[in-house]
Amino acid sequence: MMQITEKDLLGKLKINFGYDSFRLEQKSIIENILAKKDTLVIMPTGGGKSICFQLPSLFFEGITLVISPLIALMKDQVDSLKANGIPSTYYNSSQSSDEQQQVFDAIANKSIKLLYVAPESLPLLQNILNQNYISCVAIDEAHCISSWGHDFRPSYKQLAFLKKTLPETPIVALTATADKATQEDILEQLAIPNATRFLSSFNRENIALEVRPANDRVKQIIKFINKRPNDSGIVYCLSRKATEQLASKLKQNGIDAKSYHAGLTFDERAKTQEDFIKDETQIICATIAFGMGIDKSNVRWVIHYNMPKNIEGYYQEIGRAGRDGLPSQALLFHSYADVIQLRQFIANTGNREVQEAKLDRMKQFSEATVCRRKILLSYFGELIEENCGNCDVCDNPPKFFDGTVIAQKALSAIYRLQQKEAMGTVIDVIRGAKNAAVYDKNYQTLKTYGVGSDTSWQHWQHYIIQLINQGYCQIAFHLNNTLQLTDFSKKVLFDGEKVELTTPTEIKKEVKIAAKEKKVKTKAAAKDTLFERLRKLRYRIAQEEDIAAYLVFSDATLKELENERPQTDNDFLAISGVGQRKLEVYGGEFMEEIKTFINEKKRGRKDTTLETFQLYKEDFTIDEIADKRNLKAQTIFSHLSKLYLEGKDVSLDEFIEADTLKLVANAKKVLKNESTLKPYFEFLGEKVPYEQIRIGLTILQKKR
Ligand code: ADP
Ligand code: ZN
Repeated sequence: MMQITEKDLLGKLKINFGYDSFRLEQKSIIENILAKKDTLVIMPTGGGKSICFQLPSLFFEGITLVISPLIALMKDQVDSLKANGIPSTYYNSSQSSDEQQQVFDAIANKSIKLLYVAPESLPLLQNILNQNYISCVAIDEAHCISSWGHDFRPSYKQLAFLKKTLPETPIVALTATADKATQEDILEQLAIPNATRFLSSFNRENIALEVRPANDRVKQIIKFINKRPNDSGIVYCLSRKATEQLASKLKQNGIDAKSYHAGLTFDERAKTQEDFIKDETQIICATIAFGMGIDKSNVRWVIHYNMPKNIEGYYQEIGRAGRDGLPSQALLFHSYADVIQLRQFIANTGNREVQEAKLDRMKQFSEATVCRRKILLSYFGELIEENCGNCDVCDNPPKFFDGTVIAQKALSAIYRLQQKEAMGTVIDVIRGAKNAAVYDKNYQTLKTYGVGSDTSWQHWQHYIIQLINQGYCQIAFHLNNTLQLTDFSKKVLFDGEKVELTTPTEIKKEVKIAAKEKKVKTKAAAKDTLFERLRKLRYRIAQEEDIAAYLVFSDATLKELENERPQTDNDFLAISGVGQRKLEVYGGEFMEEIKTFINEKKRGRKDTTLETFQLYKEDFTIDEIADKRNLKAQTIFSHLSKLYLEGKDVSLDEFIEADTLKLVANAKKVLKNESTLKPYFEFLGEKVPYEQIRIGLTILQKKR
């Protein structure tokens, strides 16, 4: 093979995948594969593993054989490759003999670059499994080969023969499993002990992490969804029944949701999954059976209705959000009832101790009072110095106060109840509840009865959980989950030890669901933004081509189209996610849509800018004007810029620091012929927001 330069790699990355730069370790991995070395790639879900073997395939003489566990996944990947103009196909048992023959013809003609196949079908490909045809083998979801891992598949076991059959061919194993034992096992089983290992960071910065107490979950979820009326999301539940109940409650509230679990027929599941991938169903309420093999890049959020049983599972599940790199949400509901139930599950399974330890780590994560991302990453052996700034703890650091009296009340209630009651009854007694649980056992006569009636049930729960976490009391899981005292309890009860507690964070009272319903019904009238129009166009094209919408363009690409509004082929190609084929096939229609939108707005603009001007003169802030007019702040800025250029009395320089203006002015000296903002953005090290660049350029234009 000829010497391949970095320029060659970047060229193919842009033309065939539409991207301008490599992520994480992608470049080194690709170079390693092109040097024909065996390779182990460990990257988090959504990190960008596929390109690592797809891009080298374009340089190899023969075919890259991709082993993949799921037929649904293969189809999606092949659709995605074809949309990018890369000839590829898959081979599996569900195809007719005609279709299979076509695959063989394509292999013989060397007219495809990638061939996807499930391990079960490999024996049928014996004839082509030699160096004349195959230049590289990629094994996706490689952890399936290891019985240490969580997705063990017996059919993966037979892959060991590949190295023997193809000794000179590089083998690339890819997985998102961080577990060391599994990694070793993969190399051993595949007989590639000398494979170069690439371990990428597991940090997925774009996913915001949040944990809330599991009170009124359904209401909270409805509210969460109504704030994001068009966004795709997944809610994970522990039981089939929960998925069905939740989906039906969401539907009653006008939300487009379906349930998915192992109790449905194969066809029902396939249909639900496909509808979700194609944006025909917005939300899936699923057991963990859902999601493996889903590459949908525009999943905007993942909610855990129940607590997962370990951090690996949790991280893999939230990793399905935000593959396109745009901001996404992971929301976990934490409940003690779940912990108790999970413990019961574990009690009946093998290697109980390991699983309990893992559940404990999950619980610690849920109850954290320090940056949650630090905890997650440290679980995967990665240490970060700074707090992440994108989790609920960072956003709202806990406030500590002297909780000694609260602790004394709780612990003495446990003591008076002779350590025979679970948390619920303990709280009832402290709060002086008048219910059967209390009266049946005459607890209303106890000394601690009602000593904490001034504090809400939820707050008591929050405090007692903290006391448990700090070791001042404990749950006896083997004794009906009763609360028990510990050695530490005595220090508080008898030796005056001080206890620090955190104040509970308030979740704002949920608006009545009935009132919300109206809002859902009007959601069709979602804002008429360019993004929405492009989204609709994307959906229509995807339907016509019978592929998933995100395969036409990702949300990230639509966002950039909205910001940049390209009108020429060159500008369109400069957008991230647009490669040569996508420009040729979709460019025209998208640019047409953009032009129409701009013209429509121009016509309406005269009055709309004046309306903004009026409010500006009345001294409203940008945000207030945007709010009143139901427009984006960005739009208000563009109105003000226009007015400014027309010579109206608008002091645009109030919105930009003098230093920033200087930076933009310097950039302009270098980039004087650039008509779009992106080159400026990049020139300025991606540090100055687009809006500021726009304002700066407007001011400079006027000055000239
Ligand atoms: P994984 O297989 O690791 O879960 P994928 O290969 O599906 O992840 O990639 C996740 C998303 O990131 C895809 O939408 C992909 O197109 C995108 N992506 C991958 N590499 C890049 C890159 N260098 N620049 C921008 N986006 C990328
Ligand atoms: Zn954080």
